[in-house]
This record gives sequence, structure tokens and C-alpha cells, in this order.
Amino acid sequence: MSYNILECMVCGFIYDEGKGLPKEGIPAGTRWEDVPENWECPDCGVGKSDFEMVAISRIAVAVNKQVIDSVKSEPAIAAVVEKPSVIEIDRSRKPVVIVGTGLAGYHLAREFRKHDQKTPLIMITSDDGRLYSKPMLSVAFAKGKQPDQLASATAADMADELQAEIRIFNKVTEIYSDRQLLRVDGEIIEYGKLVLATGAKFVESSISGDGINSIYNINDLLDYTRFRTAIVGKKKVLIIGAGLIGSEYANDLVQSGYSIEVVEPMSTVLGTLLPQQASLAVQENLEKSGVKYNFGTVVEKIDKTVKGIEATLTNGKVIEADIVLSAIGVRPDLKLANVANLKSNRGVLTDRSLQTSAENIYALGDCAEVDGNLLFYVSPLMESARVLGKVLSGQQAQVNYGVMPIMIKTTLCPVVVVPPPKDSDGEWLVKVDGCNVHARFITSEGKLLGFALTGDAVGEKDVLSSKTQHIMG
Ligand SMILES: Cc1cc2nc3c(=O)[nH]c(=O)nc-3n(C[C@H](O)[C@H](O)[C@H](O)COP(=O)(O)OP(=O)(O)OC[C@H]3O[C@@H](n4cnc5c(N)ncnc54)[C@H](O)[C@@H]3O)c2cc1C
Repeated sequence: MSYNILECMVCGFIYDEGKGLPKEGIPAGTRWEDVPENWECPDCGVGKSDFEMVAISRIAVAVNKQVIDSVKSEPAIAAVVEKPSVIEIDRSRKPVVIVGTGLAGYHLAREFRKHDQKTPLIMITSDDGRLYSKPMLSVAFAKGKQPDQLASATAADMADELQAEIRIFNKVTEIYSDRQLLRVDGEIIEYGKLVLATGAKFVESSISGDGINSIYNINDLLDYTRFRTAIVGKKKVLIIGAGLIGSEYANDLVQSGYSIEVVEPMSTVLGTLLPQQASLAVQENLEKSGVKYNFGTVVEKIDKTVKGIEATLTNGKVIEADIVLSAIGVRPDLKLANVANLKSNRGVLTDRSLQTSAENIYALGDCAEVDGNLLFYVSPLMESARVLGKVLSGQQAQVNYGVMPIMIKTTLCPVVVVPPPKDSDGEWLVKVDGCNVHARFITSEGKLLGFALTGDAVGEKDVLSSKTQHIMG
């Protein structure tokens, strides 16, 4: 009897029908169609629809030595990875070009290839083009993973799978939308359709002092690799920011034996996402494990010391640490959109078909503001990839975001939140039972616009999701 193997498209978790997941009550030999519909990926929490059948050879390849070497020997040399075609590519067609090989770029490429196996596909990335799950960066210690183990395929594997040319360590600097051309590292490439999947950049902090080289910003696997190298032998990490990313790293690092101190300008953790009682539940659980918080202040200056660094806060406090991790947020980099004269607001503006203001140019993922929604999460980019895959192959399709719960991976106090739309009129109705918080955001007409659950209350996610107003209602 042959069994199928399925892979989580978000984090690379493998479900093997032959092995099942006995620990989760799914016996060996359970067919994918018999896995309960409400089952969720144990690593990243997405549902069954985000899993796909994969060829065993690709899983076995995992990370190869060549890529590990290229990471170690930075600055890397730009390269083109192209595999011989198994399917017949029609070279007379103008290529689809995708800029970016993050989750948005690779998901889109896979969706596109489901509908079109003939059009040449070129992918361009300024990093090394490995397929990895960005959400896994902030739980890698807890999962016992080294940075290289977070990658599930090399650029070469992906070129092979997608029948694509993948240009790694290449940066697109110009787009001439009137002539359908782009400039990449001095070379001009013609496109039939162009997609921006360029993600978001971390917000740079405006901190002074001679110790600012000890500040690490992590926006991709290469940044994370550098951070993990730098943290070896260190004891104390200062984290700037107690939002989603800062809190997840605090949760991961404190449980791995690091001493953690956090500086946050707001008065609470996850302050832009949660009502106060839910924030408090998270804060108290992280504090119990040793995380120290400094609220209502910011880091002004970081100076080198003999042992590490010394951070001076605006409230006058001085914190000593070995290394600093900045997690003060991300925003789309609009440089490319601006050179192409694309309309933008906080992100590159698109309609529900992911079309930008220029003909034959599309955008998705963290860089795109889709019909007014700028969402830095995986679920919207997965839906966008499904739709854009069809659009690029000539079909008509539109995104229709439903309810998209965000699972915050603070395992010391798990959180699920659907934030109400910005400036919504309504109030939080909150029930607190120890660290289990159940909060609903309700309008005066009784409509449920969002919810926040912590601790054991996260089990209510599906019930509340089914009652919450859809993002694109
Ligand atoms: C630590 C962390 C934890 C997270 N946890 C979760 C979570 O639990 N759940 C969730 O839903 N979301 C989570 N997110 C958010 C999620 O990871 C992102 O929304 C998603 O990965 C964005 O993918 P992307 O492809 O749009 O962008 P990126 O992954 O940033 O990819 C951008 C790509 O564009 C390329 N690029 C950019 N500019 C150029 C250029 N000029 N030329 C060539 N290439 C270029 C880059 O090299 C890269 O390949 C988390 C994010 C972080 C950082």
C-alpha cells in the first residue's frame, strides 16, 4: 500500500499518512481525507487547506551543503539557478517575473504553475532564495532547530520544482512600467507580467551611541543566522519592542536560558493588538518565567562596555546586556513602487485581483495594501497567492478575506486574536479567569468585530471565528 506525504506550505511540517500523528490521536495509516477538517498544523496552526501533496525527493533534499557554504561566505555572489525543463516551456512567451522568494513569492509561483506550465517564470531575490517559514524564526530555539534546519528547500530545489529560473542575491532597482522592463544588477529583463512580493522592511531605530553595532534586526533567515551566531556564549538579551515579534522572541529566548529585559514605549505587551486584560495575562506569564519589562520609555543610547553594552533609556535607567534585538515593527519598502510610479499608501495599492495601478504589475504579501488592507500575516498572502495564480494565467478571480485569526506563539501564554478594524466603534467585553482571558469586541448593534483569547480560552477560536464579521465583509 502506498501512502501520501503532505507538507505544510507555511512551515514545512510533514504529514506522512503511513505514520499518522499518534500523539495527536491520528493513528498510523490515516489517509489525509480522513484527518479531521478542523485539524491544525501542530507547528504553525494553519488548517488542512494550507497543506499540499509533495514529492518525496524534495523533502529528502532539505538543505544542501552548497547553500550552507554560501551563507557562511557572505557577501554572497549573485547567481542564477536554472534546472533543465521536464515540461516544455514556451520560450516565445514573455516571462512572468516575481520579485521576492518569501512565502508570498513561492506560494504564488506554486499556484501559478497549477494553472500554467508553459509560460517562462523568473524569480528574483536579494537573499539566498531558500524556502523557509518566517514565522518559525521566533520559535526556533524551542523547536531545537538550527537556522539552516528551518529551510525546507534550496533555490535549486525550487527552480526544479517550479521549472523556473531563480536569481539569488540579485536586487531589482528599476522598473520601466511603460516598456515592461526591469533592471536587475545592471541587466535589463523584459516581463509579460510582473509581481512585487518584496515583503516589508524592519523599522530602523534612531538610537545613538558607539554600541549600535550590537543591535540585531531580523527580517529573514540570513539575519537570523547572524543573530544565532552572535548570541552563542552570551547571557543577557535586551529586546526593544513588546509587540508580536518582540514578545515571541522573548518567549523563545527566556525558555532557552537567556536572561531577557524588554523596553516598550507603550504601557503593556501586545498593546496594539489586545485589550488590557489579555495583555496583562501574557505579561504576567512571561514575567513568571523571568522576562523583565520597562514600559513607557524608549532606548536613547547604546554604548559599548568591556563586557557588552549599556543601554540608556529616556527615563534615565541604564540596562546592561550582551546583545540587543530590535523588534520595533515592519513597514513595506516602497522604493520599487515609487520608481515604477505605482500608487501607494502604507503599502503598494492593489485591487482585489492584486492588480496595482500599472498595467501588468501585481503585488501581494507584506508589501501590498489589498483593497485598503495592509496585513503582515501568512493567511492573507496564501489567499492572495491562490487568486493571483489564476489571474496570471488569464482567469478572473478576486480575494475575499474572511476572518483571519492571528496565533501569537507566546507558548508561555498562547494568544489568538482577530483585531477589530482600525478605529471601529465598539467596546471590548472581557471575562478573566486567571491567565485565561476571553474578550470580544462588540459594536453597539451587537456585531462581533474581533476577539482576543489567551491561555485555555484559545480553544474558543473556531466558535468565535464563525461569528465574527469578515475582513472584506
Ligand atoms: C519573527 C516573525 C514571526 C512571525 N510569525 C507569524 C505568525 O505566526 N503567523 C503569521 O501569519 N505571520 C507571522 N509573521 C509574518 C509573516 O512571516 C509574513 O507576513 C510573511 O512571511 C511575509 O512574506 P513575504 O513573502 O510577503 O515577505 P518576505 O518574506 O519578507 O519576502 C520578501 C522577498 O523579497 C525580496 N526582495 C525585496 N526587495 C527586493 C528587491 N528590490 N530585489 C529583489 N528581491 C527583493 C527579499 O529578498 C525576499 O525574498 C511573522 C514574522 C516574523 C518576522
